[in-house]
Amino acid sequence: MPEMLEAETARVLIAARALGRVIARVHAPDAWFLKRGLTPAGVRTALKGQTLVSARRRGKLLLADTDEDGPTLAMHLGMSGRILIDGEAAGDPLLYAANGDNPTWRRFGLTFADGGTLYVRDPRRLGAIELDPDEDRLGPDASTVKLPYVRALLGRSRAPVKAVLMDQSRIAGLGNLLTDEVLFRAGIDPARVANELDDAELRSVSRAIGTTIRTLGRRGGSHTGDHMIARAPGAYCPRDGAPMLRRAVGGRTTYSCALHQR
Ligand SMILES: [Zn+2]
Repeated sequence: MPEMLEAETARVLIAARALGRVIARVHAPDAWFLKRGLTPAGVRTALKGQTLVSARRRGKLLLADTDEDGPTLAMHLGMSGRILIDGEAAGDPLLYAANGDNPTWRRFGLTFADGGTLYVRDPRRLGAIELDPDEDRLGPDASTVKLPYVRALLGRSRAPVKAVLMDQSRIAGLGNLLTDEVLFRAGIDPARVANELDDAELRSVSRAIGTTIRTLGRRGGSHTGDHMIARAPGAYCPRDGAPMLRRAVGGRTTYSCALHQR
């Protein structure tokens, strides 16, 4: 499932392959995929003739700016979305090939004047397209948050610490896997009440956010965490051999160590 690391891989692909290309045609075959009042006719009119000039990201949200007074194209990857440029996906091409392809999964696309294409391929159809999104409905990108922010955020919430970290309006980019890895590394039980963490624990969480993003980014994605091997029923902690707990926390399937996450 795409989290901020997968969105960053897609952003790098867009930056490398799509910038400077003129949009000749817009494919919007699925009106449901367009959000916040956007229509197929509206998105065609707004983007046709524009050039993509920059590729940005905030949390999991991909943003492509167009030239002059053109709109910003926002792409949400949802649970299964990927960006294809000229038929190639970012990341592992073998994984992509093994997934197969299906024209109906191409929920939105651009044809450039040079004949190439950019598609959002999304089998589960939980992604979305919008123009000129309100970027501030998202919190700061997780790669930028520091201890004072984490301390203030967790300090005022009675929700489980995992639920607060996954709230995109507070910190943008941490999904289920990254959050479980952060708390595994920090040694914190995901179900702990956020404002009951002491200062040493807040420091551990803040530090683990940074190291998790950097380390898993280097390894190649949110599925490369240290705890991944133990995300299975009956698994044991790779750090200390204690049984892993499987629970729903914040509405999401959560794996944590019964011993070192307290
Ligand atoms: Zn453990």
